[in-house]
Parts: sequence; structure tokens; C-alpha cells
Amino acid sequence: MKKFLAIILVVILALSVVACGSKEPAKTEEGAPAPAKKAALTMGTGGEAGTYFAVGGVLANVLNEKNPDAMSVNVVSTGGSADNLQNMAIGVYQLATVQSDVMTYAFNGTRSFEKTGAVPSVRILAGLYAETVQIVTTDPNIKTVADLKGKTVCVGDQNSGTYFNAKDVFEAYGMDVDNKDDVIAIFQSFAASTESLKDGKIDAAFLTAGAPTTSVVDLGTAKSVYLVSIDDEHLAKLLESCPFYAKYTIGKDVYKTPEDCQTVTVKATLVADASVSDDVAYAIVKTIFENKDEITAAHAKGAELDLTFATDGMAIPFHPGAAKYFAEKGITVDTGK
Ligand code: GLU
Repeated sequence: MKKFLAIILVVILALSVVACGSKEPAKTEEGAPAPAKKAALTMGTGGEAGTYFAVGGVLANVLNEKNPDAMSVNVVSTGGSADNLQNMAIGVYQLATVQSDVMTYAFNGTRSFEKTGAVPSVRILAGLYAETVQIVTTDPNIKTVADLKGKTVCVGDQNSGTYFNAKDVFEAYGMDVDNKDDVIAIFQSFAASTESLKDGKIDAAFLTAGAPTTSVVDLGTAKSVYLVSIDDEHLAKLLESCPFYAKYTIGKDVYKTPEDCQTVTVKATLVADASVSDDVAYAIVKTIFENKDEITAAHAKGAELDLTFATDGMAIPFHPGAAKYFAEKGITVDTGK
């Protein structure tokens, strides 16, 4: 009987320990701060044959790998800068790669954003690399922008940033990209436009992207590629009318062209919507700059990651999370506050 009672006692004790055990974590959970929710972020990039899409994919991989509990970044292919910004304004994308000139027009609601609406919620995370305004042709007789008068020219995808650059370059030469008497402008992705060049359906194509751009390299395997330069006189006009451009030379070895090409660059910039939390924005910028080697191993543009380039000459506010990271590196950026 004693033995039986002892067994009952042991069972009761064991049950009470289990009960206490199951209560313990509940108490702890009540007292502990709620775990931060993993941020689901969609990044708008560009066409699949462009540099944004490739670089965006590399950044997303590194961000997801290094911050598995904090974020999940999903990359989508898009029409480019203006498309990304318009979709950020309506909450479709939380992250995007955009041209520094176009994001400024979007933030301020100028140029085409007068019609489509300003995007006051766009914030800079970091400038990533230089994007080159490339005017590509397979016709050796087209030597200057003036030679494009009356020609069929692709000016980028619908809602791309490339269109703005084509408009500015033609304007510097006294031509209106929207006037068919000056130029027959068509809208196509990089892949489609280089395909059209290959087939002789268009005379030239503007591509604003990191050089070498895959689709131009591909074109070079089928045809001789020529790049149209912007001469000194018109370059001066362009730089005067738009402060976002910087003079740039594409060496003749880049696409095996007969000569170097004088043109301009803007900055490929990673932006976030203001609704992205400061912690997540900080983690994104820190992860990118602290994993430069891994990013560069996956895409050559990673080699251009540089704290000064990332923060210099920007005309709209930085995200406070990005500002926190740059402050740690001794760089003060404007958050618009
Ligand atoms: N800068 C281009 C645009 O917004 C896109 C470049 C790319 O896809 O790499 O039009």
C-alpha cells in the first residue's frame, strides 16, 4: 500500500512539474518583447536584359542570406526607373533600383511626374554604381546625335529612366524626342531594342545602364557595334541644363568599338519607401557595404560600391536607417528632417 501511495505521489509530482513547465514559457512570453515581424519586401528593378535586374538579384540573395529573420526580399523585372517609382507610390514595391535623376523628378513631382503624380515617400538607401547613357547603332554612318534626325530610335522601355536621358540629349541638340519630324521614337526593352538593331528595324537605341550592358555585348557577337558620342559643345549644354549628369568616357575596348565614346552618367540608386522601418533600412545598407566582396564576386558592378559615391550629390532625402549607417562611417547625409 505504501509502495502504491508512493507511486501515486511520484506521478502527481511529475504531473505538477510538467504543468509548471508548460506554464513557465507562457510567463516568459508575456514578459518578453514581441519578436520583430520579418519584413516582406518587393524590389522593382528593370528589364531582364538590363543591369538593374541582375544586380538586384545579387543584392536580394545577399540580403536574404545574411538577414534570414529580419527580411525576405523578392526581386521583380519592370520597365525601369519611372515604373518602379510609380509602383512604389502605390505600395507595390518597397525597394527599387532607380536613376538618380528620375528619383529626383519623382520626389518633386516634376517632368512626367507632374502627370502621373509625385512620389514624396521615396527615400535613398545608397548610390550603387554609374549608369552610362549609351547611344548604340550598327550603322557606321551615324556619327553624331545630329545624324539621328528623322531616324527611328528606341528611347528605352515604357516608363523607363532611359527616355528622360534621350529627351535631354536630343534637346541639347535642338531636337524634340516627342516630335516625329525630329525623331521617330519607339519604346522597347533593352533586349527588344538590341534585337531590332540586329534585324535592321531601327537605326539606333538609347540604353542607360551600367556598361558593359549584356544586351549590347550580345549584339556585338552578331554585328559591328558603334557608340554615338556627345560632342563637347552639346555636352556643355547638357551639363548646364541638368546637374545630375557627369561626363564619362566608354573606352573602345568595352564593346570593341573603333573609338572611345564621350557621354554622360547618372547614378543607379537603391531606394526604399519611407514606410520601411529604420532597422530594416539600416540592415540593408550595412549588409550591402559589409559584403562588397561577395556582391562583386556575383556581379562586377559590386566593385563600384563606395561610401562617398553612395552619398555624394544626392538631391532627395535619405532614409533615416541608411543615414544611421553612414553616420557610423563618419558621413552625414540629409534625411529631410
Ligand atoms: N536605367 C534604366 C532605366 O531606368 C534601367 C537600367 C537597367 O535595367 O539596368 O531606364
